[in-house]
Amino acid sequence: MDNRRLVVVSMGIVLLVLVGVITFSSIIFETQEPSLESSSAPTHWNLQDEIQIGFSDESGIRDYRVQVIFDGEILSDEKEVILNKPKSVKIPLPKPSITLKNGTTIQYKIEITDWSSSHFFTGNTAKVELNLIVDTTPPQVTPIASSYQIARGGSAVVAFEVKDMALEDVRISNGTDEFELFKYLDENIYVGIIAWPLKNKFFTAQLVAKDKAGNVTRHNIPLVRNINIPYYRSNIRIKEDFLSGKLDELLSQIDKKHLRDFENDIEKFAFFNEEIRAEDEKRILKACSDLVSTKSFIDERFAPFVPLRGSKLVGSFGDYRTYYLDKEKISEATHLGIDVASVKNAPIIASNNAIVLLKSHLGLYGNTLLLYHGFGVSSIYAHLQESYVEVSDEVHIGQEIGKTGATGWAFGDHLHFGILVQGHFVRLAEWLDQKWIDENVVSVLSKTRSFYQTRVVP
Ligand SMILES: [Zn+2]
Repeated sequence: MDNRRLVVVSMGIVLLVLVGVITFSSIIFETQEPSLESSSAPTHWNLQDEIQIGFSDESGIRDYRVQVIFDGEILSDEKEVILNKPKSVKIPLPKPSITLKNGTTIQYKIEITDWSSSHFFTGNTAKVELNLIVDTTPPQVTPIASSYQIARGGSAVVAFEVKDMALEDVRISNGTDEFELFKYLDENIYVGIIAWPLKNKFFTAQLVAKDKAGNVTRHNIPLVRNINIPYYRSNIRIKEDFLSGKLDELLSQIDKKHLRDFENDIEKFAFFNEEIRAEDEKRILKACSDLVSTKSFIDERFAPFVPLRGSKLVGSFGDYRTYYLDKEKISEATHLGIDVASVKNAPIIASNNAIVLLKSHLGLYGNTLLLYHGFGVSSIYAHLQESYVEVSDEVHIGQEIGKTGATGWAFGDHLHFGILVQGHFVRLAEWLDQKWIDENVVSVLSKTRSFYQTRVVP
């Protein structure tokens, strides 16, 4: 019995050792050469920033050799042995010992070997060749035209020429948010519409252009800040029968996943006004960020928006609304659009060309259309009775897109209209005003066109 047990135990040990040896030798005899971490391979270099090329290997890195070659001539040739068998290394590229002109190519040949015992214990060797274009010049930024000022809550239009041999990214920061720019007329001309959202106390505009070699140009945009726009606070008294009637009807229409139990009607109201509002705005923001940036409709013929013909204003942009039941404050919210009303089920006519980004029933906004006009600008039409366009349809000036209604959170038939600049709700007074459109959108675009025309003359 004891002997048998001994045999079983020894066989077990032999098996374990075998498994161990096989596992171990599969590592020490692995045939995979060190692999280049592709994200670390650049195409351009400013000869300033440290460039490191990352490699990884299962059995560990043993040594590497780096040759620097320019114009077929070897400038340096160095070999490094690594003793602690790291599974990954970052190899710094030695800077060339001679002065190189912009636009010339410098070549790096890297040979890197692992600790594997394969190939008669010489290991696996990877050979990588990198050709880096020398670029020490940061992007060259020339202002073309710009709005004179930006109002708190408002928008501004800017145009720049940005030149670089390998431009990677151009954007504008307002100190808090970032805005994309759009190519206009040719490869080097960029137009941007930026915003100073109401949520931001401060505004400072800076264009940041980066190239593939890591050179960065920052250009401050001297927009005058207009902080004299008045925004109002209004107190809205809610009637008891609204709480018990309309609220339950609205709650029955929203996505069940947002629902939970409520203690009383006041809790329901706050939930609707705050959480469902935020949920709706998330949907709108997502639709805005899905937009196709290559589409650009806005041109010199761009017209002021007319949300609803023959209507009167019943609610302004930026109103800070506090809701009361009797004397009790029950909720608050900022109104990020305007409310206009005319007759019941009034026709809504498109005042600018667009494509449809979103057609949906939202909890608070009711039946909603979101249209994209180009250069990051979209418009939202809410509480519609019905609409006659579908997502990705083209909309043309003069086309009837829907009828006003009182769907969602609406106290009567009206249109809630808003403008968004890259997902930020902005002041409507500007986008509805011929003078503002002329002095900002039309003027910047026409100056940009003249810049382009005078520049292309040989
Ligand atoms: Zn409204």
